[in-house]
Amino acid sequence: MNASSRKPLIALGALALLAAGLAAWGGYSYRGATRELESVRATLASESERARKLDAELAALRDEKSDTEEELRTEKNKNESFQRQIDKIAGTVGTLEKLSKTDEELLQKYSKVYFLNEHYVPSQLTDVPSRYVLSGKVQSFHRDALPFLESLLEAAEEDGIELRVVSAYRSFTTQAQLKSGYRVTYGSGANQFSADQGYSEHQLGTTVDFTTPDLGSNFTGFDKTEAYEWLRERAHRYGFVLSYPQGNAYYQFEPWHWRFVGTDLARDLARRGESFYDLDQREIDEYLVGIFD
Ligand SMILES: [Zn+2]
Repeated sequence: MNASSRKPLIALGALALLAAGLAAWGGYSYRGATRELESVRATLASESERARKLDAELAALRDEKSDTEEELRTEKNKNESFQRQIDKIAGTVGTLEKLSKTDEELLQKYSKVYFLNEHYVPSQLTDVPSRYVLSGKVQSFHRDALPFLESLLEAAEEDGIELRVVSAYRSFTTQAQLKSGYRVTYGSGANQFSADQGYSEHQLGTTVDFTTPDLGSNFTGFDKTEAYEWLRERAHRYGFVLSYPQGNAYYQFEPWHWRFVGTDLARDLARRGESFYDLDQREIDEYLVGIFD
């Protein structure tokens, strides 16, 4: 072989070597990359598995938390419901206690067949301030209703209305005497004039006959006074109602005769344009517990 023919051989050999080298390196490099890929894949798989497990754990924890929250909510609602029951029972007990201490006669309708017992005396009586009483005579009123009467009298005074109490509490005996007095004056008409319904109401201690200093003890014409108009418009705010208004079916018109029935009932009656004796006793009884509120 000559030198010129050997050269390409050398080049070929070098090329072959290079190719072999490249192939070897390539092989090595390929295997390396594959291993690396496999390792990354394995890591990824294990990480995915870990993530999945963590997710599951988290979900379980979330469920648990939500269960706990539900339990908490249920317990809270139970407690609230229990508290409401306690409050309700306490309220009922309070109402019953209050009711047991409230004289049921105070909101009774009296009629020709239903009277207040002759021995009945109000639990607490107290004097009406003398400046509001017509004559120097002492007038007594139910202690718990007196603040309402005083408020009414003060409000009238502020409005320039002169109202005087001519008669408030009257015992059975006083009334019997009064009635016989009327009978002497008016004969058998006394039953019509000062009949038994009015009796009972004054015996309660929560009823008052008003007049003005001008009219004095003569009630005639009270319905023509400014005082009467004032009472018609405002007495209900203080819990007073006209027991026997004009045109009522139960008794003669008594513009001076006002009964304390509590502000709730008086206001409702005023709003409805009805009188106390128009109402059913059962409906009236619902106002008893709050009569002095
Ligand atoms: Zn009267």
